[in-house]
Amino acid sequence: MGFQDECGVVGIYGATNAARLCYFSLTSLQHRGQESAGIAVSNNTYAGSGSKIKLHKGMGLVSDVFKAEDFDALAGQIAIAHARYATAGGRTIENAQPFLNTFKLGSIALAHNGQLVNHDELKAMLEDYGCTFSSTSDSEVILKLIVRKFIENGGKPGSGRRSEAAQSSDIDNQVQYDKELLVKAIIQAVKEIRGSFSLCIMTEDILIGVRDPNGIRPLCLGKIGNGHILASESCAIDAVNGEFLRDVAPGELVVIGKNDLRSIKYAEEAKQACIFEYVYFARPDSVIDGIAVQKARYRMGEVLANESAVQADVVIGVPDSGIGAAMGYARASGIPYVTGIIKNKYIGRTFIAPTQAERESMVFVKLNAIKSDLAGKRVIVIDDSIVRGTTSRRLVQILRRAGASEVHFRVSSPPVKFPCYLGIDTPSKNELISSEHDVDEICREIGADSLAFISLEGMIEALRSCNPQADGFCEGCFCGRYPV
Ligand code: SF4
Repeated sequence: MGFQDECGVVGIYGATNAARLCYFSLTSLQHRGQESAGIAVSNNTYAGSGSKIKLHKGMGLVSDVFKAEDFDALAGQIAIAHARYATAGGRTIENAQPFLNTFKLGSIALAHNGQLVNHDELKAMLEDYGCTFSSTSDSEVILKLIVRKFIENGGKPGSGRRSEAAQSSDIDNQVQYDKELLVKAIIQAVKEIRGSFSLCIMTEDILIGVRDPNGIRPLCLGKIGNGHILASESCAIDAVNGEFLRDVAPGELVVIGKNDLRSIKYAEEAKQACIFEYVYFARPDSVIDGIAVQKARYRMGEVLANESAVQADVVIGVPDSGIGAAMGYARASGIPYVTGIIKNKYIGRTFIAPTQAERESMVFVKLNAIKSDLAGKRVIVIDDSIVRGTTSRRLVQILRRAGASEVHFRVSSPPVKFPCYLGIDTPSKNELISSEHDVDEICREIGADSLAFISLEGMIEALRSCNPQADGFCEGCFCGRYPV
């Protein structure tokens, strides 16, 4: 697989040690981004005085960035968190999230999963207003736009800045007043940004979740004790023993405050969710928009078996995301599933290898065949996708070296012919093997005995069989038509 994951976001409101819980949730979203991690936490005690947001972020895995003692300084009941894979902006600490903006009226922190397609023009407009930027990330543009709108609307100080008189006289009214202005500013801002965005936004005393009108990236809502949790995937709610409530709908904004859980439909839903979440990005134990990811992978494998049957002795899946489809393929074809390939779980990110040749060789370090499963066997190998084709070629070599007498390559997504502009790091079009070559040519290039991809119709049929209401998928990387 040559695609890279995007990002994972979490937001928690109303739980003791919100930052520590965010850490656990974020760890369960580590597959979505390994370049940097961060947590912003408000020390709001609901007493209304002296609240402020603290931020801790750094480069590397969640476990690299946070040590146990860091949480002593991160006490509080409202927090947001982010694990990043760079899609827009460079791989630097300046681009690590969450972003925190402390201005004269208070503080706002933001964590973003997705990618904007109009951030250059918005950034230029904000710079004309005098805004400065500390990063090259499109996510900071969203935050600055919200702040700009808030100020334009006549935003008042947040709870951390309220006077003693205000606190004692009418705290709830004051909070309500600020909250409405902020919500209004966020709605104005997200109506101006275009692209994919699932956002967790916090001030000293509220948490807000937003999903773009196409629902390209996932975002779900859960309950945790007396509080609430927002997360990119439901596995992050499970990780803190929370209760999954529902997905945030495309075009929905969720406001979570003291005695307040509100849904606002800020835009008409025009669902075009990323289909690759089911194929590859999401964890198999997550449920996204009513579709259990692992069940979807089983079904894609079954459809693939029906579409491209071949005589063979065993079926194997490329770890991790090819395994579900391989099990489905085996079930539908009656050919036994065996493990066949082992993945070394302790390998760092492959971009550490500086040259393309070294990156390709990393496949040998990362994956190895189990000879006793494969020697003398006709093998069907299922992978989630073919991007450049280099990994697939190495994989076929590994299987032949282990003694496979035939290697039949099956792919549980259609040919990827176009890059993604919506939050997934893909190679340019001319590096995508399917944009330049037909199936027979790719089969020869990777050295397999046969090759077949699932059809786009078959893939959508597989998803609908998991949830008959499932509809509206982005198919941009297969057909070049994007939702925005
Ligand atoms: S273009 Fe492909 S990878 Fe990108 S959002 Fe659409 S389906 Fe997902």
